[in-house]
Amino acid sequence: MTTALITGITGQDGAYLARFLLGRGYRVFGTSRDAQSGTRDNLAALGIDGQVAIESMALNDFRSVLQVLSKTRPNEIYNLAGQSSVSLSFEQPVETLESISTGTLNLLEGIRFLDPSIRLYSAGSSECFGNTGVTPADENTPFRPRSPYAVAKACAANLVANYREAYQLFACTGILFNHESPLRPRRFVTRKIVEAAYRIHAGLDSHVTLGNLNISRDWGWAPDYVEAMWLLLQRGTPLDVVIATGRTVSLEYFVQTAFAHFDLDWKEHVVQDQALLRPSDISYSSANTALANAELGWTAKNSVDDVVRMMCAAEVEKLKS
Ligand code: NDP
Repeated sequence: MTTALITGITGQDGAYLARFLLGRGYRVFGTSRDAQSGTRDNLAALGIDGQVAIESMALNDFRSVLQVLSKTRPNEIYNLAGQSSVSLSFEQPVETLESISTGTLNLLEGIRFLDPSIRLYSAGSSECFGNTGVTPADENTPFRPRSPYAVAKACAANLVANYREAYQLFACTGILFNHESPLRPRRFVTRKIVEAAYRIHAGLDSHVTLGNLNISRDWGWAPDYVEAMWLLLQRGTPLDVVIATGRTVSLEYFVQTAFAHFDLDWKEHVVQDQALLRPSDISYSSANTALANAELGWTAKNSVDDVVRMMCAAEVEKLKS
């Protein structure tokens, strides 16, 4: 039986990946900063709470990392933990850098020390590219990070590439563009929009305050993306790869589609507030998915319209219950 260790298993991607791997017969361990008091809501929502063992682990503490690797002895590690909010990274830059960059380094060192045959998936981000302009970013596009989060992710991706080259580790970075689901925390704008649209429709609120609607992103469906993570570790040779739908739309389009789902005109309910703007943001982000298609045989099954529809349907169910 293959054993997987998923750091950050309590998060959105961690929960979907755990369900995916359990479905493939894996033994799954996960980590949380505090396994005793951390939330298991996402695992419970997917009906797999009792099927994974969760260990406490601080990624920025090498002793803690080594202890968990020794205890769980994984064949594959999926590193999904770390401070994951771009906005918050401007307020907690050190925490962001330590949890992402130092955390990745500790895992790479732990693998070298304990068992170099362990395969590592590292959660990279499209934020590393900064503004792509209309030419979609691919694996050869230079990193131009525009937030402490993106700087930390760029450092982690470079560490993974360096350890792969220097020590022949099977370590890969999936450079994932935004992917959403009902498990997204409310601090993320997509979830905030969907929840607001439903609450306004239900008469619970009258408006929602948002920042810049003029930004454009490639939004996909998280359960599709965890399959790409797994495919990446099943290859004969390690590879860094861009994962996205290949279609970029504006945030205004996302808002309009979510409000239209509930028969609302977004213009009557959205207030824009300059205070919600980031110190530096990405205005346009687009992806070239040719390598993922060719090397992983992977394409996104769901479009942004599917994502909005499924998130809206889940919001109705969630608030009803
Ligand atoms: P989540 O925020 O849902 O989950 C991340 C998990 O990491 C949390 O559940 C938390 O677990 C742990 N964590 C949070 N803050 C810290 C911290 N400061 N230090 C250490 N651990 C922390 O993220 P996602 O599941 O959405 O994303 C998974 C990974 O993929 C992340 O690295 C993210 O940056 C990256 N990514 C995500 C994208 C997306 O669109 N979702 C796009 C590109 C990359 P606990 O509280 O149990 O410790």
